[in-house]
Amino acid sequence: MHQVIDGKKISEQIQSEIAAEVAVIKSSGGKVPHLAAVLVGNDGASETYVNGKVKACEKVGFKSSLHRMENSVSENDLLKKISDLNNDADIDGFIVQLPLPKHINVPKITEAVSPAKDVDGFHPVNTGRMLQNIPCYLPATPYGIMLLLERYKIETSGMHCVVLGRSNIVGLPVSVLLERNTYPGNCTVTVCHSKTKNIPEITQTADILITAIGKPEFVTADMVKNGAVVIDVGITRIKSSETKSGYRLIGDVKFDDVAPKCSYITPVPGGVGPMTITALLKNTLAASRKEIYK
Ligand code: NAP
Repeated sequence: MHQVIDGKKISEQIQSEIAAEVAVIKSSGGKVPHLAAVLVGNDGASETYVNGKVKACEKVGFKSSLHRMENSVSENDLLKKISDLNNDADIDGFIVQLPLPKHINVPKITEAVSPAKDVDGFHPVNTGRMLQNIPCYLPATPYGIMLLLERYKIETSGMHCVVLGRSNIVGLPVSVLLERNTYPGNCTVTVCHSKTKNIPEITQTADILITAIGKPEFVTADMVKNGAVVIDVGITRIKSSETKSGYRLIGDVKFDDVAPKCSYITPVPGGVGPMTITALLKNTLAASRKEIYK
């Protein structure tokens, strides 16, 4: 019998834990954690993500600030804004919402953020520290997945973990985290990407299968081993006449088909998705406490 991993419930639990910690900080006259977000342009999806982050900050009692910039902003002006945020003592951590307009060099922007305030965990210093298992800000989605494995006490040691996707924000870091000598971790990890041959043969050997490719219902029951743990990161928005919004979200896994074979499985929506913001809040709390960079 499979268990559905309830990301919404775990996310609410962790957010109430954070809120309780913020209440203690406030009652003892400490500094309230402050997360800032830089939003360039007015891309609809980015607006939604940033609004979700601001709302979550309010919910747990953090201070938040939104720094909007025109789509036509020059790279220099954006770098200046980042430098201001790096030097603003009230701001504990900040994010620059991606994607950025084509004329902006994203790696240059990522590297301009002070590693100590890089609560998205995208700066190469944080990536390098993650590789060497040195305390760092973990990227939010992979961190959210680790929190789910932890909260459900899912055994990972010695397991074969197959990761579909190798992006810098999900596939690559999640493969590193599950390979590290820690819990969750100690897996033997295989990473598959668009050039991998015989993906079904590989996924069939996975004790833990993590999919982050953005191909709706790519993973079917015949690709999954009996008793596997399946974590579906994929989110694809498709048009639907059945919902009020006119669209619905589909994961990389054909849920109804695959779920009966699993020990644990995450749904889409309501699995990994809600954990991403929660992980960002955890990083911001750690930043305000100077837990990682003293
Ligand atoms: P991405 O940057 O587009 O990377 C996709 C990865 O999948 C690439 O490594 C690509 O291989 C691989 N891939 C594509 N088609 C494949 C195929 N047919 N077989 C095997 N591998 C294939 O995407 P991303 O940013 O990592 O996001 C992945 C998915 O997760 C998307 O649906 C996104 O919406 C979702 N997501 C969800 C959250 C959340 O909070 N739940 C957060 C971030 C992303 P190559 O490297 O060879 O091109």
